[in-house]
Amino acid sequence: MIVGSRKPIPELKRVLARHKKVLFAGCGTCVTVCLAGGEREVGITAYALRMARKLDGNPLEIEQVTIERQCENEFIQDVAAAVERNEAILSFACGAGVQALAERFPQKPVYAALNTQFLGILEEQAVWTEKCLGCGDCVLSDFGGVCPVTRCAKRMLNGPCGGSTEERCEVADPERPCAWQLIYKRLEAIGQLDNLERVYPAKDWRPSWHAGARKIVREEHRV
Ligand code: SF4
Ligand code: SF4
Repeated sequence: MIVGSRKPIPELKRVLARHKKVLFAGCGTCVTVCLAGGEREVGITAYALRMARKLDGNPLEIEQVTIERQCENEFIQDVAAAVERNEAILSFACGAGVQALAERFPQKPVYAALNTQFLGILEEQAVWTEKCLGCGDCVLSDFGGVCPVTRCAKRMLNGPCGGSTEERCEVADPERPCAWQLIYKRLEAIGQLDNLERVYPAKDWRPSWHAGARKIVREEHRV
């Protein structure tokens, strides 16, 4: 899923300072599951901002909606009337959802309530970890299902850097496991250590975002 976190209230207050009537739009998918931008978080944030603006003597009127999927026009269409009633939109979706709203309603200011962070999984209650950068040329099959592109801080494709300590990565977070320890153990467990004999060529980053925003068209499904 896409994982994000809500921006701090002072930042949201600053962004909305020029408006008196704003639509707060939650999204019902990834950001609901990661407890950042669903109906509940929209409600809590609306309450906090209403209070903050009231204390400033500059009340803010807020209308709240939750769109099932903010990254699809079909669902965005449902809130067109609510958008019309408000001066601006504060979107609690990922960056894609925010931009989808901005494209659909070109005359309305659309602001981001969240910091979109990564593609990840739920490890345990309220803990998410990053697993994929969306590099566009997946190598997981060769590395036992552990992504060196995302989980190795140096994106090493031909073995560890040699800096790990007690199976932990030497870069930044001392709790982060060395991706190459994970890769080795996983390949050992599934009897595919011979995968490591292959010398990986330098990764071609053109399918990733390094070449600019990407686009996928499935001609067979177009109407
Ligand atoms: S190799 Fe690329 S597509 Fe595959 S999991 Fe890693 S970042 Fe994602
Ligand atoms: S310690 Fe392991 S995960 Fe960290 S940069 Fe080196 S090889 Fe990559």
